[in-house]
Amino acid sequence: MNPAPTSPKNPPTVRVLLPLPLGDGYDYLSSQPAPEAGTLVEVPLGKKIGIGVVWGDGGGDVAAEKLKAIGRLIDHPPLPEATRRFVDWVAHYTVTPPGAILKMVLGGKLRELKAKDAALGGTAFGETALGETPPALSPEQRDAANQLIASVDARAFSATLLDGVTGSGKTEVYSEAIAAALRQGRQVLVLLPEIAMTAALIDRLTARFGMRPIEWHSELTEKQRRLNWHAIARGDARFVLGARSALFLPYADLGLIVVDEEHEASYKQEEGVIYHGRDMAVVRASLGAIPVILASATPSLETMHNVQQGKYRHVILRRRYGKASMPAIKLVDLREEKMPAQNFISAPLIEALQQAVATQQQAMLFLNRRGYAPLTLCRACGHRLQCPHCSSWLIEHKRTKKLHCHHCDYNMPLPKACPSCRVEDKFAACGPGIERIAEEVKHRLPDIRFAIMASDTLDGPKAAQVLVDQMDNRELDLLIGTQIMAKGYHFPRLTMVGVIDADLGLSGGDPRAAERTFQLLQQVAGRSGRSEDAGHVFLQTYAPQHPVMQALLKGDRDAFMKAELRERESYRLPPFSRLASIIVSGPDSRQALDVANQIAAAAPRLDALRLLGPAPAPFAILRGRHRYRLMLQAARNVALPVILRDWLGALKWPRSVKVQVDIDPYSFL
Ligand code: ADP
Ligand code: ZN
Repeated sequence: MNPAPTSPKNPPTVRVLLPLPLGDGYDYLSSQPAPEAGTLVEVPLGKKIGIGVVWGDGGGDVAAEKLKAIGRLIDHPPLPEATRRFVDWVAHYTVTPPGAILKMVLGGKLRELKAKDAALGGTAFGETALGETPPALSPEQRDAANQLIASVDARAFSATLLDGVTGSGKTEVYSEAIAAALRQGRQVLVLLPEIAMTAALIDRLTARFGMRPIEWHSELTEKQRRLNWHAIARGDARFVLGARSALFLPYADLGLIVVDEEHEASYKQEEGVIYHGRDMAVVRASLGAIPVILASATPSLETMHNVQQGKYRHVILRRRYGKASMPAIKLVDLREEKMPAQNFISAPLIEALQQAVATQQQAMLFLNRRGYAPLTLCRACGHRLQCPHCSSWLIEHKRTKKLHCHHCDYNMPLPKACPSCRVEDKFAACGPGIERIAEEVKHRLPDIRFAIMASDTLDGPKAAQVLVDQMDNRELDLLIGTQIMAKGYHFPRLTMVGVIDADLGLSGGDPRAAERTFQLLQQVAGRSGRSEDAGHVFLQTYAPQHPVMQALLKGDRDAFMKAELRERESYRLPPFSRLASIIVSGPDSRQALDVANQIAAAAPRLDALRLLGPAPAPFAILRGRHRYRLMLQAARNVALPVILRDWLGALKWPRSVKVQVDIDPYSFL
């Protein structure tokens, strides 16, 4: 379509937002009649043609002779209003240009959109018939499901915490709400914290609904992304299962969002646009006037607080489904276990492993540390092998026969001589990673059939599924793994869980350390005893009196949460205040520090705002960049995004320096 001639005095313009991290969009001369908001259009952009989205009327502040006209309107349904408002909301809240959010909505490269054509229509996405085979629910489950269905039937915003112990059947219960939304003819989005979990859940949901959910995550091929994007935007894909990025897709008619394992910190995106997937899911539901269900056995303190404040509804499942009971927890006090040097598995764990195998049951050893050893040092001079680009030790991996940095791509073979003292063959591995635990198992229990499960030993969701199948087929006795195996899996014959280092997450400067450790260990423990045979969980710890260990031992989550909330309140930490961090990084330490100081000097002086720093970030060097951190603490009613936008917007810094704002930080590195 060609732009219609317009009067040179007052030409009608539209503002077009481009999927680029620049400004708030550009004015273009409109065609006649003006395209409606949300329409995808081609526009001239310098010497190129770009694709943008009509965002509203032009601002009228561009001289008429400088205006260029919009080009071809793209034959595609306009982005719905809820999606456009979501873009603006997230951009504002995260202090990010809206174009960067639009880029997430458009799902990647622009040429994907150009590739849209009739050939992509009429695929299997049109499948809408539900071939349901719902299980019969227990009375407790039925009651919970009815409450969730009621929230779907209300066709209005609500947030509900589905709070059920591990194995209580949360998936079966929220599936009832999904069915209700699908029967309304609307779309449903289920968010998961890890891609590795999708394969198992897809199969389960496909069996339940007779309809395969559409996937959305970073491991799709280009073609799958394009097909899925268009199917979702057209409304043909009704049932979507995805990682946090799926939240930004332009759903034609979204009717329900489920956030599974809502407490997971991996919902926080830490790079590019920094946002929390769970929190933004609640925002998206609110803007779309639809219900959101947050499911967890160990809800986050933030969510619990919202329940207590009456903002979220609370639906509880107290019992495991069927004959399963909650596992028995034992603390193994490592101060009293006299273990030989280089051994990390205590006698009670070895005994329990033998016992499990002897009775044809299965076991899991958990250690949240990939690789063989977290630290390699020279016994001659004490030199520790460190990444040349990051403030972190190099981690030995037997699998690759190399030392790896877990924060960048750097790796190197184990050197013969110490780089510091030149003495040869004196390197010692310090502490265990899961590969070392596997070695110890092989040595001490040679007949056990085991596999390692960690993000670097799995190639995507399918590889996780292979291990799950091997467990189901009893080809394995034992899984040794990191947090990736703690989530969502259901192994009916798994009765014994051993945690190698229950104290691991407790040190460091993270205000959520206790909460996270509790959640993680509770999730790990929850893998055991999910069928008829009772589960046993062993936690190896040097701090058996720590409130986290005591809460796990006594199974008293609510008392622990209450104590944690009191502590957060007394330190004015979230959810009782707002935090934001500003990370200033650059290749040159001096220059980065100068910018950080300049930002601090320009800080607005407000009583309700406290500024800490700048100080070197705990990761003072990351991927070769020197990092300084400023931390802001504000009362809950302070509009931090507005303050930050005005404050940082008035400053300038060299291009090589990067200033990143992290609202509601989860990482304190
Ligand atoms: P959660 O997510 O709460 O840990 P799941 O939804 O994974 O629990 O349920 C645990 C196991 O119990 C699964 O194998 C599930 O299929 C089974 N289950 C739960 N509720 C029922 C039910 N009403 N009928 C049959 N099986 C059920
Ligand atoms: Zn590194």
